[in-house]
Amino acid sequence: MNKNSIYGLTIEQLTSWLGKHGYKPYRASQVWNYLYRERVTTFSEMVDIKADCIELLTENFTIQTLREHVKQEASDGTVKFLFKLNDGNLIETVLMRHKYGLSVCVTTQVGCNIGCSFCASGLLTKTRDLSSGEIVEQIMNVQHHLDTAGEGEKVSHIVVMGIGEPFDNFQNMIDFLKIMIDQKGLAIGSRHITVSTSGIVNKMYEFADVNIPVNLALSLHAPNNELRTKIMKINRAFPVEQLMDAINYYIEKTNRRITIEYILLKDVNDHVEEAVELAALFQDKKKKTYINLIPYNPVDEHSQYQRSDQESVLAFYDTLKKNGINCKIRQEHGTDIDAACGQLRSKQIKKDKDQSIKS
Ligand code: SF4
Repeated sequence: MNKNSIYGLTIEQLTSWLGKHGYKPYRASQVWNYLYRERVTTFSEMVDIKADCIELLTENFTIQTLREHVKQEASDGTVKFLFKLNDGNLIETVLMRHKYGLSVCVTTQVGCNIGCSFCASGLLTKTRDLSSGEIVEQIMNVQHHLDTAGEGEKVSHIVVMGIGEPFDNFQNMIDFLKIMIDQKGLAIGSRHITVSTSGIVNKMYEFADVNIPVNLALSLHAPNNELRTKIMKINRAFPVEQLMDAINYYIEKTNRRITIEYILLKDVNDHVEEAVELAALFQDKKKKTYINLIPYNPVDEHSQYQRSDQESVLAFYDTLKKNGINCKIRQEHGTDIDAACGQLRSKQIKKDKDQSIKS
């Protein structure tokens, strides 16, 4: 039997599960303390917990379902991890260093079905959703990597922007967020967490209603339906007008700012005309939106897309600024390793396949 990861349980779920087996609520707090503060890697290290409880936990859960398969370190301190799951699937997780702290980009699905035309992750369609435990374990594995280095560094920020569409794995993603912000666990500040969606409109409404106070980012990448449908086929299901309605609802309901992600693709969506159109779209929401302009990391399989030249990027940025739009050009990380999201994973899968054919 494949056991579930203990990391998949919120403190309430663990308390209730242990309660059903006759244990008092403080046992759950003790287990969490060992997991998130002591950061043990086996149940037997939970020395203050009674042997019968350890036995029960060992019989029903596992602590480690992820194994490190490949690790790439870039000169700027970015580290890309490729983790192997229990079923042999590979997922990618990235640690990035910023002036304000250490952030981790997590994956929510094995592959992705959204099929954005510029994306390396979407080259491999979705095999399955990750469990909440598998998402939490990515953070814990990165934290163990930092613990081993002995510098006392801690993961301080999380971006749910890796492989997969988080809103297509909604409940597991919500449990993951609850676990991450819980004061008894890693206690990551909710304002330090950002969830990014390609724009699954019904889930944007649901997310606003759930109202976990983390940040939301929307991958827009084009200011009109014609262009957006060319780049992102999901726009056929959820066109720009519907996205704008969902943004309005989110802002009204949560009173939080929303980040708009815009990847600049050379001669595709990086003209001043598109910047003007984009600025018009957000004119009445200037105080509650922030546009992130993202330099594109080319991938071999999508040779139709190239990185915008610096001149176009600056002209785009200046146009938004002149129109009073809050925006910035996103800083890049790990450019001397496989920088595009999903690139390391797709290359490694190909490499593993080639090796198995040879052997
Ligand atoms: S950009 Fe995100 S949503 Fe689009 S295909 Fe890639 S992983 Fe999926």
